[in-house]
Amino acid sequence: MIYGLGRQLSRVTLLGLPEAEIYRQERLYRRSAARGGGIRSGLLHCPVCGGRATRYRPFGLANRPNSACPYCGSVERHRFLWLYLRERTSLLRQRLRVLHVAPEPCLERRLRALPNLRYLSVDQFNPGADRRADLTRLPFAAAQFDLVLCSHVLEHIPDDAAAMAELSRVLKPGGTAVVLVPYDPKRPETEEGRDVTSPAERWRRFGHPYHYRIYGADLPARLSAAGLTAMVVATRAMLSGHHRRKYRINRNYLLHCRSSSREKMDRRSSGSGMRGTPTGSVR
Ligand SMILES: [Zn+2]
Repeated sequence: MIYGLGRQLSRVTLLGLPEAEIYRQERLYRRSAARGGGIRSGLLHCPVCGGRATRYRPFGLANRPNSACPYCGSVERHRFLWLYLRERTSLLRQRLRVLHVAPEPCLERRLRALPNLRYLSVDQFNPGADRRADLTRLPFAAAQFDLVLCSHVLEHIPDDAAAMAELSRVLKPGGTAVVLVPYDPKRPETEEGRDVTSPAERWRRFGHPYHYRIYGADLPARLSAAGLTAMVVATRAMLSGHHRRKYRINRNYLLHCRSSSREKMDRRSSGSGMRGTPTGSVR
């Protein structure tokens, strides 16, 4: 999660600057100071920090209007992810070992403050992360984490199957990974170009100078091949129109992925492939 890439976009695409050169800039991980004159009122309510506002800041390469919370920097997908974790998982209640990949500062603050979590962040470039590592080669033994959070990372990785396999490997049996990516379920297949190195060409094809793909309806199958059983959760299915407006959350999706190994064990012990209710450490 970085801020301010949009201001460097023309330089990135014109000069063809490699991802590592940009993502190693420490200042991109620091959110600029909050504006707003201390006025904390308005119809918009950020569930991540509790702040109220009349309008959010623009964010993203296209300067998407009314997107970023002026207090904590959360954008639409962060508010959706936090609400999902808070309302639909045991994050706030259970003792869990959590791995946060490419940590978003607004969510990291909330997660580190939860006394029931053992929290660890990992990032390839961010000097503030607990561990610096490539997601295709995580420096952890197998079956270490109850919950892995991985938002808007897989599309940056040429060999995303290797990254998905690592997410699966480090999860405890029955553990959960929550994955967000640029995802368009109307595309039957993922459009990708893992050999396309030019940032300008990737910007043209995938809407971002450092993305290798836009995921399509085959995304759950790709996760399944890595041992993750994925359920797609849409903002529109989880939140009413009133709440989407109040929290300023756009059309978006997350994938709730469960490590398949526990299911295999369950099937072996019950002799049935069907289970009525989910089991495991995170629900
Ligand atoms: Zn906020």
